[in-house]
Amino acid sequence: MGTLMTNQTLIENYQKRIKRIVITEEEIKEAIKKVGAEIAKSYTGRPLLLVSVLKGAFVFMADLSRAINAPCEIAFMCAKSYFSGTSSSGEVNIIMDIDRDIKDLDVIIVEDIVDTGRTLKRICEILKERKPHSLRVVSLLDKPDRRVVDFNPDISLFTIPDFFVIGYGLDCAEQYRNLPYIAEYNQEV
Ligand code: 5GP
Repeated sequence: MGTLMTNQTLIENYQKRIKRIVITEEEIKEAIKKVGAEIAKSYTGRPLLLVSVLKGAFVFMADLSRAINAPCEIAFMCAKSYFSGTSSSGEVNIIMDIDRDIKDLDVIIVEDIVDTGRTLKRICEILKERKPHSLRVVSLLDKPDRRVVDFNPDISLFTIPDFFVIGYGLDCAEQYRNLPYIAEYNQEV
């Protein structure tokens, strides 16, 4: 019985931290369908490679790749940004690299959110050195108010104000990635 109460409290606290839904499952689905069709339309016949930055973009990658009706390959990389206080310092290390050469490919980086812009600016610099034919960035979310470097994604599906969001791949301390929608995180609980 005691264990049951504890589990109940854990679930209540988990739910209380989901402050409100910001973008619904339906809205995400619609936006992805549109962007997937645009990407397929721009397909030139050159090999297309979608590169997802783990872990936050894994859900977006799964849905976006299935909305692109054109031949494409999938690859994953994992980057670690170093933080000073609450914002990233700009130092980005690749802790898992993509497993293929990207020379002469049309590469699209699939990202969850652009915040300060530091992580993607650095990842783009690293990938450009490998001489892809083209390099574009598609981000599910964009928080332009937080930008500290000159970087913008080529496509962003939703622009949001400066608050911390969870769900649809995005975490808080590794939780909430499995929510099917984007929610504001309640930092006061
Ligand atoms: P940037 O280098 O653009 O500041 O950092 C981008 C990374 O910070 C994202 O890939 C994401 O992991 C994390 N991030 C930025 N804003 C949020 C947010 O509102 N929610 C979550 N869960 N992660 C965020």
